[in-house]
Amino acid sequence: MAKQRILVCPVCGETQEETSICRLCENALDADGLLCAEGSIGPWWVRDKKHPFAPGMTYDHLVALVNTGEVERHTILRGPTTRQLWKVARRVPGIAHLVGRCHNCGEHIENKARQCPACQAPFLTYKDRNNFGVDISLPPEGSIDGMSSFLSDTVILDTLSTPLTLPKAPASNPDREDSVGSPQFNALQRRVQQGSRTIRILAVCLTICVIALIFAIVMLLK
Ligand SMILES: [Zn+2]
Ligand SMILES: [Zn+2]
Repeated sequence: MAKQRILVCPVCGETQEETSICRLCENALDADGLLCAEGSIGPWWVRDKKHPFAPGMTYDHLVALVNTGEVERHTILRGPTTRQLWKVARRVPGIAHLVGRCHNCGEHIENKARQCPACQAPFLTYKDRNNFGVDISLPPEGSIDGMSSFLSDTVILDTLSTPLTLPKAPASNPDREDSVGSPQFNALQRRVQQGSRTIRILAVCLTICVIALIFAIVMLLK
């Protein structure tokens, strides 16, 4: 009997016996199917307990879900305009107007509107697949100077949680990357560097003493 091979679905991570269609996410696992799945990966997520391990989707994919009714006013989303923090769809810039609400003031909106008639908030689209929205950068189609992808500073302050920041680069000595020597060699090198620093400090002390001595002699001779 042939041994059954086990595979991990590249799209949802489900472990299963080798198959051409994933039993969980139902993606075709041949080259075309995977290419297609990869093409729809983007920075938007719909909170979905049935598919908690699904990758993020593109803005266009999310808009398609709005159009089919799978995403509606009360669906929980996150994406570049929410700084990847969960928010109800009717409050999410870029999506709220598509479900009939102004993200900013809650006004009822026709989903073709490009701007809120009540508060003038612009309704932009966010098609940049690689913009995760966690830095402060201009939205791809933003036309107003000085605007972040959050449209207004009040939206930035909307959350009480600590703003997300980029992880700090580990404080490393700049030479480390280039250093090719063994740890022992590096330790020796460090010790030599420390030694030369000590000599420099002693030289400065000596200079100060000599100056003080000369000064004292001059004072005595007066
Ligand atoms: Zn899958
Ligand atoms: Zn409004």
